[in-house]
Amino acid sequence: MSALLQIRGLTKHFALKKGLFRRHARHVHALDGIDLDLLEGETLGVVGESGSGKSTLGRAIVRLEEPSAGRISFEGRDLGAVRGADRQVLRERIQMVFQDPYASLNPRLSVGHALAEPMLVHRKVAGRKAAAKAVGDLLLQVGLRPEMAASYPHAFSGGQRQRIGIARALALGPKLLICDEAVSALDVSVQAQILNLFNKLKKELDLTYLFITHDLSVVRYVSDRVMVMYLGQVVELAPRDPFFARRLHPYTRALISAAPIASTAAREARTILQGEIPSAIDPPTGCRFHTRCPQVMDACRRVEPQLREIESRHFVRCHLYGNPH
Ligand code: SF4
Repeated sequence: MSALLQIRGLTKHFALKKGLFRRHARHVHALDGIDLDLLEGETLGVVGESGSGKSTLGRAIVRLEEPSAGRISFEGRDLGAVRGADRQVLRERIQMVFQDPYASLNPRLSVGHALAEPMLVHRKVAGRKAAAKAVGDLLLQVGLRPEMAASYPHAFSGGQRQRIGIARALALGPKLLICDEAVSALDVSVQAQILNLFNKLKKELDLTYLFITHDLSVVRYVSDRVMVMYLGQVVELAPRDPFFARRLHPYTRALISAAPIASTAAREARTILQGEIPSAIDPPTGCRFHTRCPQVMDACRRVEPQLREIESRHFVRCHLYGNPH
């Protein structure tokens, strides 16, 4: 399989305002040197606590955040270098589904209007009549009835609104969907329905997903591979089954043992994470996880571990799996 999306050295630092007595601006290290190949047709689950950088990663890919450094290529083309109509076409092919679709729906526009607008603006359909037909098809595709196009956002339940959010993301015919906590605000039973919808759409439309969530049970259900982020860096990346079976990084172990899906054995060997995730303004030296790691060694405080392939396609950033130099 070829890489649909290729990310190299992606970095995003947010400058903070200089204080009265501070000569240099400080920076939030939201992303630090992310490398990733997202394969065509796969679902990559991205997990981490709030502050890990996972949402910034999604926003940088759709250019809601301009990267500080690094390169993102989609279908072999550098997203930062394409201009004009080509740039627009590439952007249509990467769409985002957010946690709260209601916030991005105009309460004064009918759902049909909200879905038709981007298709008309981007000339995906010719005229209002064709747009109305396309809206009906989109609603059916996400499990809603075409006549619902006449209703306004307030008339829908949370699950239905997320279906509308997904329909809107599909309206321009994307290849890649970035789902940022897309089921987090929903009840568990509704979550399962929406996750099944994502799986169905993936098969029908040949989609590729980057699925950002803090919820490991969601990741386990939808992902082909899993990537764990901590303070702006990737700390573990592996195919789903070896990831859950081996859980090599101490942070991954702590996340899994704290999750409700953890097995009895995992709960017995529970690793409790100490304290909050440190500030991304001045990340800890050496290994960024050393302030909370139950297996911290002296070298961890001084030497930054690199992301290494420990087993086939299983990458880990930790000195337990290679000598610090
Ligand atoms: Fe823990 Fe050290 Fe590994 Fe970091 S490098 S995760 S501190 S053992």
